[in-house]
Amino acid sequence: MSGKQAKGGGIVVPVDGPAGSGKSTLAKRIADHLQWEYLESGAIYRAVGLSVLEMGGNPENPEEAARQARNLSFECRKTPQGWRNFLNGRDATDNLREERVSEAASMVSTHPVVREALLDFQRSYGRDGGAGIDGRDIGTVVFPAARLKFFLDADVEVRIQRRFQELREKGVDFDPEKLGASLRERDHRDRHRAQAPLIQAKDAFRLDTSNLSVDDVLRIMLDRIAREYGQLIDLR
Ligand code: C5P
Repeated sequence: MSGKQAKGGGIVVPVDGPAGSGKSTLAKRIADHLQWEYLESGAIYRAVGLSVLEMGGNPENPEEAARQARNLSFECRKTPQGWRNFLNGRDATDNLREERVSEAASMVSTHPVVREALLDFQRSYGRDGGAGIDGRDIGTVVFPAARLKFFLDADVEVRIQRRFQELREKGVDFDPEKLGASLRERDHRDRHRAQAPLIQAKDAFRLDTSNLSVDDVLRIMLDRIAREYGQLIDLR
């Protein structure tokens, strides 16, 4: 997919934050608005987790996970149904959201060899035009030199309620207590792992989305992008 051509090379806008902070929704809306590329970096860790599970492997084993990461065939593509994630050519978007895959993703992402194997792929984004990329370490590790970075956060209870709502809308059955505990546990693992933990980059613009609508947050983010890159992009 080609993004809007930016003068002086591509622009990457990292949008980091914990699960349920709104980062994927907002990075997608930015990409849609600016006709940019979009990458949901969490989906590539999920894809590695799913590949390990499908091979009957153990996500806690770094070598098994690294093998899947090195051989990964992944694409985040805009379709008439919205942004979809393709794994080995098949649309795996819904599969990747399964709870067992969330768990596996959180485990494989703790292995330094896995993170290393996925760096070049992530850095291939935004070369031709702009890209919005959401994740945990996009502003700190993957694109530390990005001129403008966002860190979204929200109260943990709000984030858990958003996840419930998302699953209800999809008609997926879930155990609220288990899901809440799993989100807290993943949060803890993401924030405390040795490699690329979830932390706000020092130069990131932090937004607490607990009491803001998606449109409010989008307006604030587009305003910042316009201030930083105004002449380079068409904000319409
Ligand atoms: O964002 P999402 O919840 O889909 O991410 C799935 C898992 O992938 C997270 O629990 C996190 O551990 C991992 N992840 C990561 N680095 C990223 C994006 C996601 O470690 N840049």
